[in-house]
Amino acid sequence: MKIVLLGGPGAGKGTQAAKLKQHYEIPHVSTGEILREARSSGTDLGKKAAEYMDSGKLLPDDIILGIVDERLGMPALENGFIFDGFPRTIPQAEGLDELLVTRGSALDAVVSIDVPDEIVVERLLKRAEIEGRPDDNRETIEERLSVYYKQTEPLKEYYGARGILKSVDGLGTVEEILDRIKTVLG
Ligand code: ADP
Repeated sequence: MKIVLLGGPGAGKGTQAAKLKQHYEIPHVSTGEILREARSSGTDLGKKAAEYMDSGKLLPDDIILGIVDERLGMPALENGFIFDGFPRTIPQAEGLDELLVTRGSALDAVVSIDVPDEIVVERLLKRAEIEGRPDDNRETIEERLSVYYKQTEPLKEYYGARGILKSVDGLGTVEEILDRIKTVLG
């Protein structure tokens, strides 16, 4: 099963991706995690990523598509994957389609996890206290939300037009939301 989890910052994509990974026994690929790892290893990519992440901006599409292309070349991803935090722009979605087509493959479903903005801000400020992620401060959160509406939300229409978009209510317990996702995935 090849799945994309879509949702704004703090929608719970990472949490649900970890659960789905266990349930379907397929790898979870988070571009945010990959960038945070690059950052803590101090690589060139990591240094560049830090500038964008801390201001709440997205990294250039070609950098992200390069990372994803490399991942898709791994045998572990041949039979399925859960992408979380990617694609985040229309060009990334088009790039992903191309990368999959050249591999004779395609996405099965895109699951949008929907959560109201007020709740998201609350959740992210709480996460800031617990995890100390440098991009979880009020200013950056507001920028990430605005970037989400401008650049990522249009993906709902993109995938909706292809008939593979499934939306779930992202309010409730982790298990409740997981059940909703399993139900829409059938
Ligand atoms: P969240 O979903 O909580 O906003 P992520 O961990 O998915 O956080 O991403 C954190 C940051 O990493 C983003 O704000 C952005 O700067 C960068 N990033 C992650 N994925 C992408 C992507 N697909 N395209 C561009 N930038 C990305």
